[in-house]
Amino acid sequence: MSKILVTGGAGFLGSNLCARLVREGNEVICADNLFTGSLDNIRELMGQPGFTFLEHDVAEPFDVQADQLDQLDQIYNLACPASPPYYQSDPVKTAKTSVFGIINMLELARRCHARILQASTSEVYGDPQVHPQPESYRGSVNPIGIRACYDEGKRMAETMMFDYHRMYDVDIKVIRIFNTYGPKMNPKDGRVVSNFIVQALRGEDLTIYGDGSQTRSFCYVDDLIDGMVRMMNSAEGFCGPVNLGNPGEFTMLELAQKVAAVTGSRSQFVFKELPSDDPVRRKPVIELAEKELGWEPKVGLEEGLGKTAEYFRELLNA
Ligand code: NAD
Ligand code: UDP
Repeated sequence: MSKILVTGGAGFLGSNLCARLVREGNEVICADNLFTGSLDNIRELMGQPGFTFLEHDVAEPFDVQADQLDQLDQIYNLACPASPPYYQSDPVKTAKTSVFGIINMLELARRCHARILQASTSEVYGDPQVHPQPESYRGSVNPIGIRACYDEGKRMAETMMFDYHRMYDVDIKVIRIFNTYGPKMNPKDGRVVSNFIVQALRGEDLTIYGDGSQTRSFCYVDDLIDGMVRMMNSAEGFCGPVNLGNPGEFTMLELAQKVAAVTGSRSQFVFKELPSDDPVRRKPVIELAEKELGWEPKVGLEEGLGKTAEYFRELLNA
């Protein structure tokens, strides 16, 4: 049993991670400011022994007196809005969450001698000029564009992780997550999978941005969480960064067609303006995760969309 802090633990990935860590008998502290997360996501964990919720903004340091945070073994740093409409709604705050947030968590890790994992992102590759993307690719981010608050914030967080490792010997793990979807996504989150499924279930038009030819690789949440936990518990000295994602690559038009088929929806497709700096293609090279973590995704897109649609159907009916 370990004592584990999960920041962003009331969000989509965080709540799935907390549920798994509690199930495995760990003592879990979930810290979240509830910006995009929700107490509904952790409702079933609230009464369970070993689970604690702390309302906290990671851009602020933790109270050093908080004895709950003594002797942590592990810190998963997931706190950061991940959906473009949310992270662009207050870009200055998004950058502070990533940069001040990781500094505060690294200071905490240093003080507790805890291992720390940073949830980085495929967005560090920007609009990639190399396809598919291996970890060695250094990326193509527009530093002054509307996605930069997120992309550059995450790049800076990776920099801080490796600088604390080199300067203070903090035990670090960095994963670069590619688009992940599944139960516990917020129906109003604004990301493509939740938008399409909710629109399809409501019989509304599916909103395709641009001509729908841009691609993404979609990973089902259970696969992603499995990779994340494997990385956290990997051999000391293996810091990453390591890509975690499903290499299946689909256009947004193909995704819309799959969602329509899985939900049995007769929704029409409508084409809307493409947001600026929207990456054209994205697909992970996952050889490093296969080799170092013995990890590869198992859930295909149709199966995962089916499970996710089931979740949203129940949520919308409730
Ligand atoms: P999410 O928006 O559902 O979860 C983020 C959580 O962080 C929310 O609960 C939110 O309230 C919390 N949060 C935001 N700002 C905070 C702050 N200042 N202090 C404390 N809590 C704060 O998003 P998600 O998809 O679960 O993403 C989780 C992490 O994984 C994020 O760091 C994101 O960048 C990263 N990631 C996710 C994906 C994906 O496809 N889901 C891809 C790449 C990276
Ligand atoms: N997208 C879309 N319709 C939507 C929401 C998003 O066509 O209703 C597109 C978006 O422009 C992008 C892709 O889907 O090309 C993935 O968007 P998402 O916000 O899910 O993730 P990200 O762009 O951060 O990879």
